[in-house]
Parts: sequence; C-alpha cells; structure tokens
Amino acid sequence: MIFSENFIEIAYIIATALFILSLKWLSSPTTARRGVWAGEIGMGLAIAGTLLHFGIVDLKLVAIGLVLGAVIGVPLGKVAMTAVPQRTALSHAFGALCVTLVGTSEFYLRAPNIPPFMMAVLSLEVILGSLTFTGSLMAAAKLQELRWPPQRPVTYKGQNFVNLTFLSLAIIVAAVLVLRPDQTRLFPALIFIPLIFGVMLIIPIGGADMPTVISLLNSYAGLSAAAMGFVLNSKLLIIAGALDGSSGFILSVIMSKAMNRSFTNVLFGGFGQIQTAATSEQEAKPVKSATAEEAASILSAASRVAIVPGYGMAVAQAQHKVRELYDALTKRGIDVRFGIHPVAGRMPGHMNVLLAEADIPYDKLMEMDAINGDFPQTDVALVIGANDVTNPAARTVQSSPIYGMPILDVDKARTVMVIKRGMGAGFAGIENPLYYMDSTLMLFGDAKGFVGNIVRELSGGHG
Ligand code: NAP
Repeated sequence: MIFSENFIEIAYIIATALFILSLKWLSSPTTARRGVWAGEIGMGLAIAGTLLHFGIVDLKLVAIGLVLGAVIGVPLGKVAMTAVPQRTALSHAFGALCVTLVGTSEFYLRAPNIPPFMMAVLSLEVILGSLTFTGSLMAAAKLQELRWPPQRPVTYKGQNFVNLTFLSLAIIVAAVLVLRPDQTRLFPALIFIPLIFGVMLIIPIGGADMPTVISLLNSYAGLSAAAMGFVLNSKLLIIAGALDGSSGFILSVIMSKAMNRSFTNVLFGGFGQIQTAATSEQEAKPVKSATAEEAASILSAASRVAIVPGYGMAVAQAQHKVRELYDALTKRGIDVRFGIHPVAGRMPGHMNVLLAEADIPYDKLMEMDAINGDFPQTDVALVIGANDVTNPAARTVQSSPIYGMPILDVDKARTVMVIKRGMGAGFAGIENPLYYMDSTLMLFGDAKGFVGNIVRELSGGHG
C-alpha cells in the first residue's frame, strides 16, 4: 500500500512537470512535437496513478468507460485539420459535462455537511461546467455551420443586461447554498441557470469572433476542472486545471487584442454586432482577373513578394505547392516572406502548422505587426485563399462585423494578386473591397491547382 501511494505521488509529480514542459514546448513550432509527446506521457502517467488509487472500488466500470471513450474519441481525432476548432469545442463540452456530473454527485453525497469554502468551490465547478457545456456545444454547431444556431450574431436590445441577470441569479443561488447547504432543492437551479447562460453567451457571437470564444471556453473548462480538484482533493487536477485555465485565458486575451475586441465584452458574451446587409444585393462590380502565365511573369519581375495564406490554402491543402512556389521564386533571387494573421484559417496557429508541415523556413513567417510596415515597399502581395484577414473594410466600414479587427495591409502593396475560386465571401460573410481595387488582380481557381500552374509557368520560363 505504502509503495503504491508513493508511486502515485511520484507519477503525479512527473505528470505535473510534463504538463508544464508540454505547454512550454508547444509554444514554438520547432519543439511542438516534443510538447505533444510530453503532454501525452504526462496524461498517461496521471491516468495510471489514478487507476492505482485505493479509492477505486470497481475497475469494471472504469474499463467500460475507457472502451466507450475510445470508441467516441478515436473517430473524433481523425477529423480534417480545418474542423479542429469544432472538434476542440466538442471536447470542451464533454469535459465540462463530466465536471458538472462529478460536482452534482459530490453535492448529493455530502449535503448537508458541506463547509462553506467547499460549497463555494463546488458551486464554481458546477456553474463553470454547465455554462461551458452548452456554450461549447453552441460554438461547435456554429463552427460546423449547422442550420441552428445561426452563424450570424443574434443580438437584441438589453442583451448584456439579460446575460448578466442569468449570471447573477446563478451566483445568488450559489451564495444561498454556501450558507444553507441543506437546501438541496435549490441545487438543480445551479445547473440549469448556467446551462441557459451558456447558450445566451454564444448566441451574439458570430463569424470572426468565434476563435476568441473557443479559447475562452477552453479556459472555463480548465478552471472548472481546477475547482473539481479542490472538491476531490486532487492536487494533480488542481494543477492541470489551472494550467489549462490560465493558458486558455492568456490566449483569449492575446486573440481579443489581435481582433481589437474588448475583453470584458468577450467575457460576458456582449460583443456581437448587428449584421448589416453587406452580404445581400451586391451589384456585380467589375474585377480584373489574370491567368497563371500572367501571374508568373508579374512575380518573376518582382524583387519583393509577400505571400498571405488563409483558410482557402488549408482547404485546398496547397501548402506543398506553396513551398514549390517559394523555392521557384527564391531561386530567382526574389525576397519572399509570409504574412501570418493571428486568426487566419480556422484555429490559432493554423497557417504556421501548415507551412511548417511543408518545411517553409520558420524565419520567413512574419507576424502581422512585423510585416505590415513593409507592404508599401512590396512589389507583389500574393493572397492565397485568405479573405477576411485582408479586408480593408475592417479599417473604415463601421457597420462591418469585422470593423476594428487589425488586418494584413496587402492593399498597400504595389500589386495585389488574390487566388480564390470565385467571388465567395470569407468566414464573416461580407464583401471584400480589396478585390475591386485598381492594383488588384484576381486569380480564379483552386489554390492548389493555381499555385501549381504558376510554378509550372515559372519553371517553364526558366528552362
Ligand atoms: P476566410 O475569410 O474564411 O476566407 C477564405 C477564402 O478562401 C474564401 O473567401 C474562399 O473564397 C476561399 N477558398 C475556399 N476554398 C478555396 C480553395 N479550395 N481554393 C482557393 N480559395 C478557396 O479566411 P481567412 O482570411 O483565413 O480568415 C479566417 C476567418 O475565419 C476570420 O474571419 C476568422 O475570424 C475566422 N476564424 C478563425 C479561426 C482561427 O482561430 N484562426 C477560427 C474560427 C474562425 P471562394 O469561395 O471564392 O474560393
């Protein structure tokens, strides 16, 4: 027994260290793979330690849970990279449901003998768990573009007030239970009010703001797990939950800064904007288009090129062709760099992952603030499947849902070339004035095919 207790403690300490190292390593693409391994081994040790715990009475149930979890989890892990955000949201939903159920059973097992501090933590666990459960399901459905809930922000007058009222009600119920834990009839309200609040929180959030919310839900799920750690007296759960909660929180702050959104509004679900009629009744304005041959000759005459990838490059899986283009251009002595917007694609770091997969040198990937000053001296800005993150309406059109979001200033380059299949809108569902500028050439086609054609033209022209 002593041996196994010591073993459990040691396994937990190593798991904790591995979680911290994992977060550190995950923050750079060069060490990210190691970070994933560290996280996986840490989680394996944490599970092994927990299974050895003397408190476990029936391993059969645990085995059934493991099999069920694996049956659901393995297919979930095999989604396309573009669907990772909604998959992540689903994971948060499952985690949060689990936290809520554990909190509920702990309450009914212990009531009415629950000390005030324990009841306060248990309430926090259940409130955060319930709101994260419905909030994450809503976010996953919106990102998956299901018919309901609508993807556009749904806003109404007094929305912030309604949301704050729900949150306050939940806090009042929690306060009563802290003082009178024998009032077990009140406990269901502690679950159901935050369940509704979770839905209300996500309804006003649309389009471009969804990534920030996903990372905030990640943070809530972590904090609720940390609260669960207090209730179950598990140091490991407290540490892992706190790491998850704080890293998700920091990411949300970084992303709301990148999107120029108020963080308080993000916290209370009050940053939706009433969608204007931007998407409807667009008159057919003329755009200038060009062929791969023309694009190749413009590129080969350039000395500075900035490539701006977006969601379309991910869908088309064009990153390897983009690498070939990078090689073909640099071989000609052209300076090629990549402008990476913090929310390009469908998940944080999406473009970095794809370009790293294609072995594009990491020092060529420039963050938005680092490259924006260079666009006026750039001969060609080549936009590959990006739309919202290059939309100049974000600077000037106050009624636009992306107003205020910093963008990559590609419109300031001498020539802009945009590869996309047609005039389709991006994630925010709005028109992009970039496409109608005199300096813009539209290159219509699938990103992979079009970039491949340019590469062919460049090598044909070469030899
Ligand atoms: P975007 O605004 O979604 O635009 C992508 C463009 O790619 C579309 O306009 C589409 O136009 C084109 N496209 C699609 N398939 C293509 C293909 N096979 N070949 C060529 N083009 C293709 O993308 P973005 O500029 O990267 O902006 C990302 C947006 O997603 C932002 O609004 C962001 O807030 C949001 N978002 C980001 C995250 C995140 O964490 N990064 C998460 C969720 C949402 P056509 O149909 O005309 O081809």
